[in-house]
Amino acid sequence: MTQTLSTRTVCCKLSLDADAVTAIRATAEAFNAAATYCASVAWEEHIINKNKLHHVVYGSTRVNYGLGAQLACCARDKAAEAVRAARAKDHATCPTFKPDSAIRYDARTYRLMSLDRVSLNTLTGRVVGHMVLGAFQRRYLYDTSWKVGGAELVQRDGQFYLHMTQTKASPKPDEPTGFLGVDLGIVNLAADSEGETYSGADVQRVRERRFQHRQRLQTANTRRARWRLRKNARKESRFQRDVNHCISKALVQKARTARKALAVEDLTKIRERVTVRRAQRRARHSWAFRQLRSFLAYKAAQAGVVLVAVDPRNTSRTCAVCGYCEKANRPDRSHFRCLSCGHTAAADTNAAVNIASRAASQTAYCAASPSGEGASTSPPVLAVGI
Ligand SMILES: [Zn+2]
Repeated sequence: MTQTLSTRTVCCKLSLDADAVTAIRATAEAFNAAATYCASVAWEEHIINKNKLHHVVYGSTRVNYGLGAQLACCARDKAAEAVRAARAKDHATCPTFKPDSAIRYDARTYRLMSLDRVSLNTLTGRVVGHMVLGAFQRRYLYDTSWKVGGAELVQRDGQFYLHMTQTKASPKPDEPTGFLGVDLGIVNLAADSEGETYSGADVQRVRERRFQHRQRLQTANTRRARWRLRKNARKESRFQRDVNHCISKALVQKARTARKALAVEDLTKIRERVTVRRAQRRARHSWAFRQLRSFLAYKAAQAGVVLVAVDPRNTSRTCAVCGYCEKANRPDRSHFRCLSCGHTAAADTNAAVNIASRAASQTAYCAASPSGEGASTSPPVLAVGI
């Protein structure tokens, strides 16, 4: 295993005086106009390389938009990355940036100062703002084992927030002694191969109530209702984020204590894979599983836990004991009953065991695995339907 770099972002509210706000607003406008210009050049001339783009746009960015040397480079980088992302996603049009879009800062354009102050580059010189820090942000910022990198200055509802990136080398992962399989499911958001489940009924109840409320608001469709919908959408995303943090933290801690690697489904095909009835589709598709998966990945890296992604095909319809694969093994979404050997289990636990076995059979660790999970129970992949 090679050593990787962990990245995290600390978000702080900024307290700024009126002059600073004016300076930053003007800077954001110029910065994003410059970034839009850089993006259009990169797009039309098919430039992806930042250095190459630099030679083409640097002079005119500084003259036409009044940006300092470093901010001009940050605008160019923002544009180059957006163009690269748009190309990768086959977008038909060039990315553009709104005047109140984020300003990107690097080590030379912003500086953290004592007493929770921060100094930011603007068109009219540096301004100093005060970071409004809670205990959580303070703990993150004052942890010197993390190196502070670039930042994005974001405006939302007239308020400024600084999103600072921190990096740290991840610890070298321990050689795992087995696998903890994790199934991301419908009945439970997550279930592991030892039969433990994470956030089922409680979360479901909250979400059901919110869904009903959302439907009522959508039907009403008044100005007030639309405002409330936007507010609720943010609330829902905070809720999901919080639950995802808790689940991923618990799973990583469990794997670490048992010195196991985490085995998860390769999520690239998650929506195609799951064939659920219409009524259940909402439950599956409206949860931020990708976020949960990415939280698992970064928390595992920080804790020195190996994470293995496996092909999830048929993991929910294959018997974890005898390997018999048949759609009818799973009569409904929550139960598994093998038609061949009679093994019964919770559907998501059975799937999690299969995921653990698959990880064991696809990695070199299975030979060293004293727990014996792995090759012997590896299910044959028999495609029965999709
Ligand atoms: Zn069986």
